[in-house]
Amino acid sequence: MSDYNYDVIILGAGPGGYETALKCRRHDLSVCLIEKDQVGGTCLNRGCIPTKALLYGSEKLTELGNLEVLGITVDGYRFDYSKLAAYKDSVVGKLRGNVEMMLKKSGVSVVKGFGRLKDSHTVTVNDEDMTADNIILATGSSPFIPPIKGIENAISSDQFLTLESLDDDNWVIVGGGVIGMEIAFVLGQLGKQVTVLEMMPSILPGVDASILKWLNRSIKKLGIKVITSARVEQIDSNSVSYTYKDKLETKEFDRCLVATGRKNNIDGIGLEEAGIIRERNRIPVDEHLRTNVENIYAIGDITGIKQLAHVATYQGNVALMNILGKKTAADYSVVPSCIFVTPTISTVGLSEKELTEKGIVFSTVSYNVGANGKALLSQKGEGTVIIYYSPENGEILGCQMIADGSSEMINELSLAIKNKLGIREIATLIHPHPTVGEIVKEACEKGC
Ligand code: NAD
Repeated sequence: MSDYNYDVIILGAGPGGYETALKCRRHDLSVCLIEKDQVGGTCLNRGCIPTKALLYGSEKLTELGNLEVLGITVDGYRFDYSKLAAYKDSVVGKLRGNVEMMLKKSGVSVVKGFGRLKDSHTVTVNDEDMTADNIILATGSSPFIPPIKGIENAISSDQFLTLESLDDDNWVIVGGGVIGMEIAFVLGQLGKQVTVLEMMPSILPGVDASILKWLNRSIKKLGIKVITSARVEQIDSNSVSYTYKDKLETKEFDRCLVATGRKNNIDGIGLEEAGIIRERNRIPVDEHLRTNVENIYAIGDITGIKQLAHVATYQGNVALMNILGKKTAADYSVVPSCIFVTPTISTVGLSEKELTEKGIVFSTVSYNVGANGKALLSQKGEGTVIIYYSPENGEILGCQMIADGSSEMINELSLAIKNKLGIREIATLIHPHPTVGEIVKEACEKGC
């Protein structure tokens, strides 16, 4: 028995923190989970879940036009954003309630308050000290506020998700990354005018050009205007100034949203007191998720490895295994990633650009979604699946898809890459018919 209050203290109850707390209990470790706000963190309260609820609702609106051909006529429909916002909040509330219940049932001590390290075994919260054998830092990130003149005239994604009405029609979004594009699709699908200003030559870095070509079709269909190589310099109350091809341009708006990345929450949590080294805006960790202090681990966004909820959860598991003495190294070679624009983009393994840059010889197979029966009959026939594989032995190296349901299909590819399977293994596996998942099999068959 140690002299500490707990086996583990976790700072931050996002998907990294709360899932790890639950797993600690499954291994009979006593655990205290400290959270300054609400359990669920960014993902559940201000990120993945609420945005997906809005995307779901707004996509339904665009589908109304497809119903006539099915014999369904919708006369005089009305749309009320406040109801969609309430729906989003109710989904978030239900999920948060489930998490709170699971934490309670499994015996996790949840403490509400801002936790700060006092030394390498002590955390102070609400003026009280509590101690643990091991500490896991999982404090996540917040919207980065860029030093743009007049930034106070814009809202962040956090603020966007709290809006109860959506009267403004003309929107400018600064930043064509994942957050900017997902919100552009919410707004575009709700019939708003949207202009995305992106500093880089392309939106969504990491997504191959052939996938972006497909995305451009839906961007055009919704009337979303994307201006790349456009660096925003100033935001006034109703217009934004940006540099484009060395010229200063302006664009008027009713509302401006800025999504130019996220900043890790590592200030004020007592890193210095505990002797933890920070590297600019992140906490460096080794492959076991340990910081430079033996018994303190860091997981999630603050490690600066990948800002994805599922990576945080995975890292929490690795940290826990190491706490339990089962030496485990984190492996990021297979990290699926999904962007919930329409159709959904999903990627795993190496992209075409990465394969080329690394000088890896590869072959490509692709399959158009429109050739798949289930996709076509469901009016979701847009998109493509591209698989990169070794011409030598067929081993799958990477996959990029743009297709409705690709966020589910990508798991088959992740399992294949993780286990070094080839296109032949997928091509010869019986896939149920008619399903959208057959697209993956059909693509692989083309290479066999
Ligand atoms: P990001 O870094 O992905 O994109 C920000 C974009 O803003 C970049 O493309 C950058 O070039 C651009 N930019 C920066 N300054 C600019 C300026 N002055 N003018 C014009 N453009 C400018 O950041 P994000 O979209 O805020 O997302 C943050 C993180 O959250 C990312 O790592 C993302 O992967 C993650 N996230 C993931 C999901 C998902 O998996 N579906 C959803 C949301 C967020």
